[in-house]
Amino acid sequence: MDKIYIETSGCSLNQSDSEVMAGLLEKAGFKIVDNADDGDLVIINTCTVKGPTENSFWKRLDELKGSKKVIVSGCIAQTEPSKLEGLSLIGPYQINRIVEVVEETLNDNVVSLLVKEKNERLNLPKIRKNKAVEIIPICAGCLGDPCAYCKVKEARGDLMSYDKDAIVSQVMKARAAGVKEIWLTAQDTGCYGKDIGMDLVKLLKNVLLVEGDFKVRVGMMNPNFVLEMLDELIEVFKHDKIFKFLHIPIQSGNNEILKRMRRKYSVEDFTKIVARFRAEIPDIVIATDIICGFPGETKEQFMDSVELVRKITPDVLNRSRFWARPGTEAEKMDGQIHGKETKKRSQFLTEVFSNVSLMRNERWIGWEGPIIIDEKGKDGMIGRNFAYKSVMVDGEYELGETVKVKVVKAKTFNLRAEVR
Ligand code: SF4
Repeated sequence: MDKIYIETSGCSLNQSDSEVMAGLLEKAGFKIVDNADDGDLVIINTCTVKGPTENSFWKRLDELKGSKKVIVSGCIAQTEPSKLEGLSLIGPYQINRIVEVVEETLNDNVVSLLVKEKNERLNLPKIRKNKAVEIIPICAGCLGDPCAYCKVKEARGDLMSYDKDAIVSQVMKARAAGVKEIWLTAQDTGCYGKDIGMDLVKLLKNVLLVEGDFKVRVGMMNPNFVLEMLDELIEVFKHDKIFKFLHIPIQSGNNEILKRMRRKYSVEDFTKIVARFRAEIPDIVIATDIICGFPGETKEQFMDSVELVRKITPDVLNRSRFWARPGTEAEKMDGQIHGKETKKRSQFLTEVFSNVSLMRNERWIGWEGPIIIDEKGKDGMIGRNFAYKSVMVDGEYELGETVKVKVVKAKTFNLRAEVR
C-alpha cells in the first residue's frame, strides 16, 4: 500500500481540497500518513496569495525534489505550470481526479490536469483534519474584475456556484457524522448563486432547515454584495444556528486606494454595514482585512486605514503588507513602496489593533454560556462561543464537545474562561 503525505498551506478552501484528496486516495486503497518522511509520494497543496507563502513553497520543493515523488496542487500549480516542468500538477478544479494523478506519478509518468471546469466537488469522500469542523466550499472563483493586487483570481477564475441541494446534503452528512461547526467557505460567499439564480440568504435558509445541534460559520464576503442583501442577511444571521461572526474585508480606509485596488465599495458602505449589523445584533463579531502599503498609498491615506480601525474597532483584523504578485495589475503600478516602509506600516497597525482587540475582548468578561471545543491550544483547549469568539479553558475535552463556561479574563487575542 503506497503511503501518501499531503502538505497544505493557504485558506480553508485549500484545507477542504486536501481533506477531499485524502478521502479519495484512502478510498482507492492508499495510506495517508502525517509526515513527509513516511510518504512514498508528497502532494504539496499550494497557496499563491502572498510573496512569502510562495517563497516557502519553492524552498520546500527544493528540499523534497530528488528524495520524494512530488505532485504540486493548488493555486501555484494552476498559475505557474511553466516553472514546474517535469512535475505532476493538479489544479483546484481537478482534485476529484487525484487518484489518477497519484497512480501515474508513482509509475514515473508526469501528468498535468489544470483545466478550470465545473467538476464534481461536493459530497466526495474526505478525511476531516478536525472532526468537529466540516468545511464546505459553496462556490469556486469570484466576480472580481480582478482586484488589482489579487493573484487568486488567476488560479480560481470566475464564479462557479455549487448546487444548493448538494450543499445541504453535505451539511446533513456532516451532521450525521457528529460535526458541530459547518464552515461555508469561498473566496467571496457574498456572490454565491449569482450565476445560478440563487443567493447566499436563500442558501443559508435551506442549510438552517437541517436538524441537529450545529453552528454555521459564514466565510468572508465582499461589502458590495452584502449591501445588496443587507436586510435579509441581518435577519438570517439572527438565527441561533449562525455564528454571530461577520467577515467583510475592507482592505483600505481610503476611497482613492479602494478605487486603485478595483474594490467595488466605499469606506462609507463598509461603515454602514457594520453599524447596521451592530445595531440589530449587538454582540456580532466583526472581522476585516487591511493591506498596508498598496502602491501609491501616502502616509495620510494609510492613516485613514488606522483611523478607520480606531473608529470601527473590529474584533478581528487580518493585517498584511502589500506584496506585488506576478501578473497582477498592482505589480506594474507606479508608486511601489519600499518593503521597509510597508513593514513599518503593518507593525504600526498591529500596535493600534492590539489595543483595540484587548478593549473589545474586555467586554466579554463575566459572559457565561456554552462553547464548542474545536482546537487544542498550546496552553489549554480552545472553544468557540455563539459569536465565534476564541475562548480558552483548562482541562482535556473532546473536539466537538460543548462545555459551559464563564469568561474570567480578557487577553489581546482571546478570552480565558472557567468551566461551570
Ligand atoms: S474578490 Fe478580488 S481579492 Fe477576492 S479572490 Fe476575487 S479578485 Fe481576488
